[in-house]
Amino acid sequence: MGKKAVVVIDMLNDFITGSLKCERAEKIIPNLKKLLETARKYSIPVIYANDAHYEEDFEVVRRWGKHALKGTVGAQVIPELKPDKKDYIVEKRTYSAFFETGLDILLRSLGVESLILTGIHTNICVRHTAADAFFRGYEIIVPKDGVEAFTEKEHEDGLKYLEYVYGAKIKTIDEVIKDIK
Ligand code: ZN
Repeated sequence: MGKKAVVVIDMLNDFITGSLKCERAEKIIPNLKKLLETARKYSIPVIYANDAHYEEDFEVVRRWGKHALKGTVGAQVIPELKPDKKDYIVEKRTYSAFFETGLDILLRSLGVESLILTGIHTNICVRHTAADAFFRGYEIIVPKDGVEAFTEKEHEDGLKYLEYVYGAKIKTIDEVIKDIK
């Protein structure tokens, strides 16, 4: 297994407390905090993939309405998971953290071959990011208590899909932390 990176997807104010609030996401915050602290300590790159929308974005107009608009408080990472100076941030315009964001070249520059996908939502942005990661040959690890969705069913189905279609290794945060150490 090659060098890892942690990708934190859409842990933004609008998704946790704002216009697209996902109540279930609150419980993964302490888990992610623990994982990020460990990753930084062991020099595993931490990359935030954040929605930064224009009002005209397809996803905003056709599906979800205004959320995480570029430059607003709603588009900022929640205070509990505030990025560190050495972390990387990519801004995205739709579900996948790879789509037109420069994430791939960043990962290749860092020598990363294995992605630990975290954040929200298991069946939406995490799933689309996993698809693009799979197409590009990255190994995928998903801590099941480090991702969430709007409902239990969406979360569970999302995890099954990631495992079935992309061969994602579904683990717990503690297992992922143990593997890093
Ligand atoms: Zn969005």
